[in-house]
Amino acid sequence: MSLYDKLVTHSQFNYSRRYDLYSHGLTAYPLSEKAPLPYEEQIKTLVDKINEADCIIVGGASGLSAAGGGDFYYEDNASYRKYFGKYAEKYVFKGAFAGSFYQYSDPAEKWGYLVTFLHTTQTAEIRKPYLDLDKLIKNKDFFILTTNQDTQFVKIYPEDKVAEIQGDHRFFQCSRQCSDDTWDAVEPVKKLMKAMGDNTAIPTHMIPRCPHCGAEAFPWVRGYGNFLQGTKYDEQYRKISNYIEANIDKKILFLELGVGRMTPMFIQEPFWELTKLLPQSYYIGINNKYDYLPQEIEKRGMTIVGDIAKVLDDAVKI
Ligand SMILES: [Zn+2]
Repeated sequence: MSLYDKLVTHSQFNYSRRYDLYSHGLTAYPLSEKAPLPYEEQIKTLVDKINEADCIIVGGASGLSAAGGGDFYYEDNASYRKYFGKYAEKYVFKGAFAGSFYQYSDPAEKWGYLVTFLHTTQTAEIRKPYLDLDKLIKNKDFFILTTNQDTQFVKIYPEDKVAEIQGDHRFFQCSRQCSDDTWDAVEPVKKLMKAMGDNTAIPTHMIPRCPHCGAEAFPWVRGYGNFLQGTKYDEQYRKISNYIEANIDKKILFLELGVGRMTPMFIQEPFWELTKLLPQSYYIGINNKYDYLPQEIEKRGMTIVGDIAKVLDDAVKI
């Protein structure tokens, strides 16, 4: 098990042990009661800490994509209607994920929805918060860890700088996990969107299938399928673990962006633990809702509560 895998496993264990707290959006960590700095000083500290760091480990989560307009996952809003309009009218889904969980009676209809979902993220422009983040870190040594499956980071950076630990919309896997194989989903999705046209279902004979056993394919993502934790998955954990190990004596800035309360175990709590362990490191969390900074790292940490898009935009302007 790699170093980062161990941190996540430890955090998952705590999460299930203290589910009474976590299920209410709380945390098992005693939190700092330190008063936050005024906003302008927080932005200045963010920029200073980026400049001072030998290297930066970015943890990008759902709040980062949501801040840039990728906010159609959990709500029926204008952007959901824009990309999923025909399904919004036919079904009453509260956002893109709800439609993915739905038990469709026709697999071709399910695939119509999945293909629409994948096409939306695969073809999305790079969102502004990602571009602002890039302006802030591009001259530094950095590594990206992300739970986002929407491929935003791999549109900017080479694969060896990004660890996608919850999967990636550009790949299919076998729904039965008959093999360790993952394969391209971009070209099939393009063809299927064309074949579907204005319908809500793809042609049944075009349902993507596993090249090995003929079972239905499935996007390589955790959340609503049978997520394949094979070679590709291990690679992601190896990349982040190797980066941490190579820089363990350096001044690392852990920069957490938009972690929600459902999954503190993938980025947030491992970052807290690493900050605690590495005395020269510093932690900054940016979140639009939660001011969660553990007491144990309050002297080497800060949270900025605000709209991530605005925080990054303001930081770029300094
Ligand atoms: Zn198969």
